Amino acid sequence: MLRGMTTIDPSKPVLVTGATGYVASWIVRYLLEDGRTVRGTVRDPGKSSGLEHLHALGEAHPGRLTLYKADLLDTGSYDEAMADCELVIHTASPFLLGKVRDPQRQLVTPALDGTRNVLASVDATESVKRVVLTSSVVAIHGDNVDMKGRGAFTEADWNTTSSVDHQPYPYSKTVAERAAWEICKAQDRWDMVTIHPGLVLGPSLTTASKSGSMATMKAFTDYTLAGGAPDLAMGMVDVRDVARAHITAGFTPDAHGRYITNARTITMLEIGKILRKRFGRTYPFPYTKVPKAAFKLVAPAAGYSREFVEKNVGWPLEFDNSRSVAELGIDYRAAEDTIGDHFQQMVDDGIARRMPLK
Ligand code: NAP
Repeated sequence: MLRGMTTIDPSKPVLVTGATGYVASWIVRYLLEDGRTVRGTVRDPGKSSGLEHLHALGEAHPGRLTLYKADLLDTGSYDEAMADCELVIHTASPFLLGKVRDPQRQLVTPALDGTRNVLASVDATESVKRVVLTSSVVAIHGDNVDMKGRGAFTEADWNTTSSVDHQPYPYSKTVAERAAWEICKAQDRWDMVTIHPGLVLGPSLTTASKSGSMATMKAFTDYTLAGGAPDLAMGMVDVRDVARAHITAGFTPDAHGRYITNARTITMLEIGKILRKRFGRTYPFPYTKVPKAAFKLVAPAAGYSREFVEKNVGWPLEFDNSRSVAELGIDYRAAEDTIGDHFQQMVDDGIARRMPLK
């Protein structure tokens, strides 16, 4: 579609797919606080746990949040929720790190077929004018070594090095986004904006999310990193900034294309250092760097292949986030606040426990 001005009627309902998710829950909350009416899709609207925060938001904003049942793998299941929406924010997609037994079935199929399914409903729903798709920096690059000999990654870059067998989650995001652009470009009624966060951290509105974000922070309290952390650089960004970016992208008429939404690059050791500064030495935070060769030996047990270690540990990584700053106006939160607020919540929820006194 040719780039134009897409104005979304703020009184129309906004559809958020995967509303239970870590990122989506913040999107739903901010949309409601902005006065919008929200339709959230969930796989099981009748489940007894994992929806409490959405029910509470619904009660705080009477009549403005409705949950619908939809599954990425059920053709047409998004039609009902989408009827009359002008803006569709598609976040639903599995984010699993480490050992994934059947990456095709658990990651690639739901991401790819799910995106096709949601966009088929968009094609069939005359009211839709814009789709905001949650992609990732991992659709921009595959392994950190991909930056060798070049500068920071930009929105012009695509991940060309991941596959079902090597880096399946990045692969799932890449093929899903590519398919989405193909579907978008085949018509001219609706346009699309894609959001590309690094690892999303920061407080969660739900304890039920299985997002890799939770797994990453949990490693700082369950002794996984007590013996040290590998020199693994990754993008990172606050969940609240990512949620706001989706909404701004939806309601900014001339927003277009891909937006890297990443605050900075950070290593596991740097996260440990930030945590130590705020929470002291009584939690099992990492102090030392695990040498690459040693990490290679233990990584497979944690679900990371030797190839992953070779191509990612010890390599620098940089993303250029200037488009998101200039065009979406994002003022990225400091990592100290993002990580500190996230861990504080884990303390409050009883997930992070102090080490026993010796
Ligand atoms: P999350 O908390 O695990 O949320 C994933 C959502 O996807 C859940 O609402 C889940 O619904 C839904 N989902 C999974 N499989 C589904 C299926 N077959 N049918 C319908 N819904 C399904 O993960 P998140 O971190 O918020 O991730 C949200 C999005 O952000 C994903 O697209 C992810 O790739 C992207 N992203 C995340 C990060 C990050 O660091 N967290 C970084 C970059 C991009 P149920 O409640 O029914 O399971």
